[in-house]
Amino acid sequence: MAKQSDVLSADFLVKVAEEFGTPVYVYHAEKIKTQYEKLQKAFVKADARFFYACKALTNINVLRYINSIGCGLDTVSIQEVQLGLKAGFDPKNIIFTPNCVDLQEIIAAKDLGVNINIDNISILEQFGNQFGGSYPICIRLNPHIMAGGNFKISTGHVDSKFGISIHQLRHIERIVKSTKLKVTGLHMHTGSEIKDVDVFLRGVEIMFEMTEHFPDLEFIDLGSGFKVAYQQGDPETDIDLLGKKLTDAFNHFAKSYKRPLQLWFEPGKFLVSQCGYFVVKANVIKQTTATVFVGVNSGFNHLIRPMFYDSFHLIKNISNHKGTERIYTVVGNICETDTFGWDRKINEVREGDYLVFYNAGAYGFEMSSNFNSRLKPAEVLVKDGKAHLIRKRDTIDDLLKNQVEIPL
Ligand SMILES: *Cc1c(COP(=O)(O)O)cnc(C)c1O
Repeated sequence: MAKQSDVLSADFLVKVAEEFGTPVYVYHAEKIKTQYEKLQKAFVKADARFFYACKALTNINVLRYINSIGCGLDTVSIQEVQLGLKAGFDPKNIIFTPNCVDLQEIIAAKDLGVNINIDNISILEQFGNQFGGSYPICIRLNPHIMAGGNFKISTGHVDSKFGISIHQLRHIERIVKSTKLKVTGLHMHTGSEIKDVDVFLRGVEIMFEMTEHFPDLEFIDLGSGFKVAYQQGDPETDIDLLGKKLTDAFNHFAKSYKRPLQLWFEPGKFLVSQCGYFVVKANVIKQTTATVFVGVNSGFNHLIRPMFYDSFHLIKNISNHKGTERIYTVVGNICETDTFGWDRKINEVREGDYLVFYNAGAYGFEMSSNFNSRLKPAEVLVKDGKAHLIRKRDTIDDLLKNQVEIPL
């Protein structure tokens, strides 16, 4: 598990909760840096670059911090591109990897000067017809590797909507040739939560085979899938082993390719999952015939991963961390079934205690909503030991902001 200095203590989180109220997302800047440095260290012998997949967490301060430590940015919408530029990223350090967007959105990204990754034949052809080789592109391939902890987040399978199938290589080649497209990158992203290093290696071998069809390549982008531990004993992607094996394979291959090649990655979760803490308050303890429920002042409107992906988030009582452990089922206050965790051993919870969800940095706030007309939580960034408010809690005005009242 994490080093002590890597973790925000219970007492510290209680203070943050008292100062800024709950529910609140708390992010620890230095932990993001630690994770980035782990990646750099693992791939030190390869010409590797990392682009933070910002759909995991896009607060502008987090983006600015990530830019400040020298990491690039991976974006999936034109709005993420715009946020990245606003955060100060050089367009060259941004890669745009959308799927199922129209040509206009691709052109908008091109006009902003970022790296473009095209993920279907139709857009490839339209882009080629319009721009030919005047703007280099990357092509997202689907190598059909079944990987990922969950079917919903596994993107390499046959029925996946992502990427262009490697079986369509001939078709890609025809378009590239006839429109003179300049393909400088090949990309794959097989899905999230890959535990097995050899999956990456299989993918990369397929990518190597593809390179001979593309003479202008400058990089191969292997996307992400780096898994982090959500609880003690959870399997994690062995970054050092991955770094070593991949570096060997890549450097061996790169010798035979006629131009220098870079290895790109797009980690999201790996960089920001563990930096995040979601702090809530226990509203009620409700004992039924079979279960003791803790009802907290949040729900899947704020943290949907447990309900959407069956994800496990470790929950602790930070107000009573010496209390006797008891078995609780932690639920939200939404009028829908929203169970955060069944049968969890937690130090005795009293109404008013603060609970924390760990690993809440990635896909936490970012997937939140205003369901039940509840307000989105505040966000706090901890840097150099100080807590800074980086997003105010919603107010009722935010709920009404874009609504247009008509005469009735
Ligand atoms: C979501 C996504 C990632 C990041 O995935 P994580 O599991 O968060 O690391 C990387 N690349 C692309 C194209 C993505 O859509």
